Amino acid sequence: MFDSNTKGVLELLKRPGNDMCADCGLKGPEWASYNIGIFLCGRCAGIHRGLGTHISKVKHIRLDKWEDSQVQRIREVGNLAAKAKFERRVPPCYRIPTNEDHISLLQEWICAKYVREEFSRPDRQAYVAGHMEGFLMKRGKEDPRYYPRKFMLSEADDTLKYYVDEKKEPKAIMKVSEINVSFSPDKMEKKNSFQISFLKDGTTRHLYIYHDDPQTIVNWYNAIRCTKLHRLQIAYPTASQAELVNLLTKDFVHEGWLWKTGPKPTDAYKKRWFTLDQRKLMYHEEPLSAHPKGEIFLGNTMEGYSTRIGTPAGVRDQGFSFTLRTPGRWYYLSAEHSQDRDRWIQAISAVLDVPLSPQDCAIAARLVRKRGVTSSLNIFSSR
Ligand SMILES: [Zn+2]
Repeated sequence: MFDSNTKGVLELLKRPGNDMCADCGLKGPEWASYNIGIFLCGRCAGIHRGLGTHISKVKHIRLDKWEDSQVQRIREVGNLAAKAKFERRVPPCYRIPTNEDHISLLQEWICAKYVREEFSRPDRQAYVAGHMEGFLMKRGKEDPRYYPRKFMLSEADDTLKYYVDEKKEPKAIMKVSEINVSFSPDKMEKKNSFQISFLKDGTTRHLYIYHDDPQTIVNWYNAIRCTKLHRLQIAYPTASQAELVNLLTKDFVHEGWLWKTGPKPTDAYKKRWFTLDQRKLMYHEEPLSAHPKGEIFLGNTMEGYSTRIGTPAGVRDQGFSFTLRTPGRWYYLSAEHSQDRDRWIQAISAVLDVPLSPQDCAIAARLVRKRGVTSSLNIFSSR
């Protein structure tokens, strides 16, 4: 059975705030840092161990032996008091990771809290300055190699630029308010990475970026989020902060291979890499393609968008097929197995069930104008 000190620690777990990990919020922590005085999940405890014992001293609640003074320390602090101290000034644009998030996000969050103490010293928050510049590794457009490119972020201009040659004009100028950044999608072989997606001439362009240093990549990511938030606050002065924070960046809802037919029922199925990015379903030749081959705007169920298992009579069913109906066209898609098909249907249906936000409508309207289409909002490019 447990000795009196372990029982004391188990008792402390019942205090408010101590029932979840102090860093990622996972319920039922099994570890504790006895010098900081907090309870942790296994994943965060592993990161704490990597910081060195001069920062954090970690023990398992049940499997390790506890000294009186260690129990006392946790009694004095606890998760709520530690949060008040180490998360005092987390900027609203900062992405606070959950337990399922990418390891770089979690690691940098923990380093920022306890090693750099960024959230009690805002002068250390490089990402809130409204300006950032430096070199990031960018994948070639037609070439799978990565090259160092100078990037420059400016909140005043609402731009993110990158240069192939610093002395010349920027290679691309993106409007920060119009880009999405997906943090380290699984398909990217690089550890500390993100994918930027933006519209150029009516079609989406993807940039694949990484950096060897996780702090650099997480700082850039949060700097883009901060710039977006400040621009949104100007554009929508009456919106709540929580509402705007929710619009900053969205990791892709789902990605993977599917087979797709052409517009004619007799067309053969072709293997394509599909990416569901908010209301946009894009398909690509390769997972790291620079451009999608086509993009389908996903409207609302009330406007005639829906998904069905299988294909209608006369259209070949390729095993695990499903139909995506849009007002302009029906798409016949096929997954590798039934669970995969169900996951796609579930992900797409969840998007279709949500009414369009003013931002969605604005994007759709702008795309329609750009492509000179007046009758239908559903497809904004298809090649
Ligand atoms: Zn955790």
